[in-house]
Amino acid sequence: MEPLETCKTAKKCGGCRYQGIPYEEQLKQKEKQVGKLLSKYGKISPIIGMEYPYYYRNKVHAILGRDRKGNVISGIYEANTHRIVPVEECQIEDKKSQAIIHTIRDMLKSFKIKTYDEDSDYGLLRHVLVRRGFHSGEIMVVLVAVSPIFPSKNNFVKALRKEHPEITTIVLNVNDKRTSMVLGERNITLYGPGFIKDTLCGKRFRISPNSFYQVNPVQTERLYRTAIRFAELSGKETVIDAYCGIGTIGIAASESAGTVTGIELNREAVRDAILNAKENQIKNVRFHQGDAGEFMEEMAAAGEHADVVFMDPPRAGSDEKFLSSLVKLQPERVVYISCNPETQARDLQFLTRKGYGVRQIQPVDMFPWTDSIECCVALQRVDQ
Ligand code: SAH
Repeated sequence: MEPLETCKTAKKCGGCRYQGIPYEEQLKQKEKQVGKLLSKYGKISPIIGMEYPYYYRNKVHAILGRDRKGNVISGIYEANTHRIVPVEECQIEDKKSQAIIHTIRDMLKSFKIKTYDEDSDYGLLRHVLVRRGFHSGEIMVVLVAVSPIFPSKNNFVKALRKEHPEITTIVLNVNDKRTSMVLGERNITLYGPGFIKDTLCGKRFRISPNSFYQVNPVQTERLYRTAIRFAELSGKETVIDAYCGIGTIGIAASESAGTVTGIELNREAVRDAILNAKENQIKNVRFHQGDAGEFMEEMAAAGEHADVVFMDPPRAGSDEKFLSSLVKLQPERVVYISCNPETQARDLQFLTRKGYGVRQIQPVDMFPWTDSIECCVALQRVDQ
């Protein structure tokens, strides 16, 4: 692999802290970091890296604003500020999606669409988000605006599609809150079905604007296959997929399981998950909307049983409610996937004190050039 030149925007952007460090060295540093946090629980397998660690992000987000001369710019916030760093080229984001964002940026002037300014609370368009299904080729453009009224929207859609006929859907997302969240709750479909579909682990998934979907599909397949291997399913097990998003892990594991129950907080993701099970003609999977901790608590209180629990919480990790109910449910195996080894280490401390032993630890490099680390851990109930 021929490495690209060091990114010129890296210092200001702050997203790729490993810029300037050869990829092999990044992998070593990540292994070391995982070792520091998790080696007390078990042996760590060599990290799974990428063959070509560039342009891997299938989701590209840009903030819109103006420079001092009044020109429209698109980019990201400078670390710890609300100043926009213009991004012309990014080595980790999908190229096509970047090109679409640049087209939109350059269209705004002729359409007289103002970018939103937080300080003066003036203007319309805040962000653009592009998601591309790497397998399907489907592309979703989400225009995030402070108002549902988008002037000459039909012509805008037409002009954008003329430049990029590969776009399969365009959504207007309304976010009128003063918040660091990119997306608001309301989506208005301007073109196409309002979602994209993509294939992962041989299954089809529908992805809505607000649903979580892993950003590095190549490594996600490796991560999920690891997780499913760690679960040692024989075809009979009662499986829980906690923090399931659009149901990816549970659906990918369903062929090897008896039944799968997914639990997820985000309503849109749960709706996607239910439709995904249908689309893949999977009959042994159910999904519930709610807090994973509360769901587990109810299961434990009802005296229900589970053989295997997959858990894939957000960066903050799981919580006491979830973990103590998990221990009460006494599944034979727990497969814990995490994008933050610090909170994972904290949760593993809890579980290893309450009757679980760590069997395997597999880091996967989901985010080359950044300092994020993903890790899959297999736990087994220890008979006491
Ligand atoms: N397993 C999925 C999603 C992982 S991301 C995948 O691999 O694609 C974590 C998910 O946890 C997000 O979808 C988020 O909406 C959900 N979540 C966050 N807090 C939660 C809670 N308290 N209970 C249930 N789900 C939660």
